[in-house]
Amino acid sequence: MGTPEPTRAWGATRRGLAEAMAQLDGALPGSVVVRHMRCGKPGCKCKADPPALHGPYIQWTRTVHGKTVTRLLSETQLARYQPWFDNARRLKELIAKLEIASAHAIERSEGWAAHPTNTTTPTGSSRRTSK
Ligand SMILES: [Zn+2]
Repeated sequence: MGTPEPTRAWGATRRGLAEAMAQLDGALPGSVVVRHMRCGKPGCKCKADPPALHGPYIQWTRTVHGKTVTRLLSETQLARYQPWFDNARRLKELIAKLEIASAHAIERSEGWAAHPTNTTTPTGSSRRTSK
């Protein structure tokens, strides 16, 4: 038994995920944070009461080769690329679903699902101390 049993449920799940993934034209990693800030200028409107903070500063942060890279986006740029940020989240959900479906498939195909207690538990680890 090399390949997982092609059940109807599996086929539908697999097709649905493939179709959903095919619709994603882009996906951007990292996170977007919108900040409003105070500056260091004395008497600035950001220190007034109520304060008029500077911003919004839209920061897109991601990790590239272990280093954090930050880019400032304009509101127009954020609007333009928002779908790609949303897609990245959607992609993670789809991968999680594919993993769950695949785990079910291997359990079923290998007959493990019928034996839920088919795990090896370590024995003899409890050492008796003799008095
Ligand atoms: Zn200011």
